[in-house]
Formats: sequence, structure tokens, C-alpha cells
Amino acid sequence: MYKNKIWLSAPHMGGGELKYIQEAFDSNWIAPVGSNIDCFEHHLEAYLGSHHVAVLNSGTAAIHLGLILLGVQVGDVVICQSMTFSASANPILYLGASPVFIDSEPETWNLCPIALEEAIVDTIAKGKKPKVILAVHLYGVPYKVDEIRAIADKYSIPILEDSAEALGSSYKGQQCGTFGDIGIFSFNGSKIITTSGGGAIVTHSKELKNKAIFLATQARDIAPHYQHSEIGYNYRMSNICASIGIGQMEVLDYHIGLRRNMHEFYIELFKNIEGVAVFKVPSVNCFSNYWMSTILINSFETNGVTRETLRLALDAENIESRPLWKPMHLQPLFQKYNYYGSHIAETLFNDGLCLPSGSNMTPEDSNRIKSVILKLFGK
Ligand SMILES: *Cc1c(COP(=O)(O)O)cnc(C)c1O
Repeated sequence: MYKNKIWLSAPHMGGGELKYIQEAFDSNWIAPVGSNIDCFEHHLEAYLGSHHVAVLNSGTAAIHLGLILLGVQVGDVVICQSMTFSASANPILYLGASPVFIDSEPETWNLCPIALEEAIVDTIAKGKKPKVILAVHLYGVPYKVDEIRAIADKYSIPILEDSAEALGSSYKGQQCGTFGDIGIFSFNGSKIITTSGGGAIVTHSKELKNKAIFLATQARDIAPHYQHSEIGYNYRMSNICASIGIGQMEVLDYHIGLRRNMHEFYIELFKNIEGVAVFKVPSVNCFSNYWMSTILINSFETNGVTRETLRLALDAENIESRPLWKPMHLQPLFQKYNYYGSHIAETLFNDGLCLPSGSNMTPEDSNRIKSVILKLFGK
């Protein structure tokens, strides 16, 4: 019997998106300019609180511009979480800067404060003060916000907060994306909301937002002709994509609730399965959107079932799952750069698996996943 593919994280439209796209068509603003762009930005600003948001055509573009706005130049050092998607680190190379990679700590899987401080001290001793700390809220789980901020302030290094996976997550009641000196979001197809492709940069001031938009729209000086004094980029979001974003904002909190239900489903499912731990926030201070539900498998306690055994068993039933992000310091592209830590990220990569987590999964989907897992673990 042919079975539909169950995806890790599929787009989930709320229904309102087409109405806003129609508006864009009716007004003929089929361009990276238009009122739906401003409207989407206002929705995001209202959602976050007091911050200023510029929407762009990808999260990667937002990281690139964020690094530029924080002053990163050729030859600079940027400290970066190792356990992340390559899009966090690639823009460091776009600028001719060098990443220094930091291990995860086991509670949030994000920047280890001890390894972070060690890297800063060591890099300064070598004569180069790091320009930026790039911190990630992996899988929607907030990093150790207070600890990382204390270290950043101690050495006066700004934080670029990669909140690509964490729209709607919060720490002590404050929204992720607002903790960094600059924050970013992604609205790619697999993220908690999607604009088909897109991103945003979050700043503390209107001036910085305007500077981001200036750089994202080819850095045109004020003049009747095309006049340029700085390197520009073509990074602005299109009015059509922003239309999708407005519709998605209407269902964001609802969809977060559904993702959190999936997470609950996995907690319940693995409750009595020895050797499998569902990853969850370490304290009541953290609220996660649970963009992705993930597990760690200790194969010494599962009669030899590994994350790969489980991945293949799910795949045989046309159910997508995937190992966690392969740490950057283990990637051929980034191997030559410095790394500080005690190899926690490696262990996470070896033992961890991402499970289908979409907000549009049906009870039948959940049942299919459940039966594969119960069978594999002999339950
Ligand atoms: C998705 C993602 C990005 C990049 O966003 P795009 O919109 O795909 O360019 C950056 N960092 C992390 C952690 C991501 O998950």
C-alpha cells in the first residue's frame, strides 16, 4: 500500500495568505516594495514588543547584514556556535572573517559558556579580540541567555542572535530574537512560519533598521540618479512573500500550540522506552516553540537500537527523520578553524534524531509514527 510521505516540518498555510497576495496583485506591487512589507514588519514588531524589524529575502541574508552592521571585516574573528545549520556560519566567510567554533552544553544544546569564555580569552591572548558572538536558539530552545550575555558584556563583544528556529520561543517572558545586539529570523519553507523563503533582522533602533534596509536595497545614496558610496546587497523581501507572512502571523501562536502538542505526543510515546530521551527545555524560565521535536538515543540502553536504526525504520514507512545538525567544526568546509569545547556536540550528532514535528500532522500521521516506534522497541 502506498503511504503518503510524512515530512519533518512542512509548510502550513493558515488560509488568510491568499487574500493578502490578492491585495498585492490588485495594487500591482509585485516588487520588493509595497505596503504588505511594512504591514508584515509591523506584525513582527508588535509580536516582539519594542523592537524594530526589517524583512529580507532570507535568514542567511539577515545574518550577513547583521555581521556587517556589527562591524565585521576581513580578517576579523567571529565566535560561532558549532552545533547549528551552516547558514549561521557561511556569512562569516562571505566577509573574509574567520569563525571560531564553540561546543554545546548539554542542557540547551547551545553555546557552552565555559568554552565560550575560554575561546574569548585565548583569542584575545593571540592578539585578536573577537568581533561578534553568534549564538543560536537551536530547535527553538533558548540558549543560556543570562550566562551568555554576562560573558558578552564582560568582554564588550556584541551578540548576533540567530533566532531562525525560535520565533515564538521566549526566556523569562521575553521573546527570542530580542536578546542580541541584533537578532535574526528565518521564514524558509521548513520554519515555524514560512513566506516560501525569507528572513528578518531585528534591531534596537529605527536607525539600524533603516541602515539594514539601505544595505538590502543596493545602498542607494539620496540622489535622482543611481549613486553609491557603500557596497549594497539585493536582500529585501518581496511584497508577495510579505503577503504570505501576514497570513502566517495570524496563525503563529496556534501553530506553536500544535507543534507543542507534537512534542507532548513524543514525550508520552517514549515515556516507557528505556534509553530514549525527548529533548526539552531545562527550566520554567524557558518557553520553546518546539519547532522541531528531537530525541537522544543511548544505544547501550536500547538493546543496540541507534538513531540510524530508527531513522531507517521510519524511512521504510515513508516517514522522514534526520540526524541533528552536524557540528560546523566537523564539516570539511570549516575543519581548519579553531574549536573550543569537550565534544558534547559530537555526541549529540551521533545519538540525536529530529522527528516529524509539523503543525499540520494528522492523527493518522502520529499513529503511523507510533506504530513504527513501538514495533522497533518491541512494545
Ligand atoms: C534556517 C536557518 C538559517 C537560515 O535561514 P534561511 O532563511 O534558510 O536563509 C540560519 N540559521 C539557522 C539556525 C537556521 O535553522
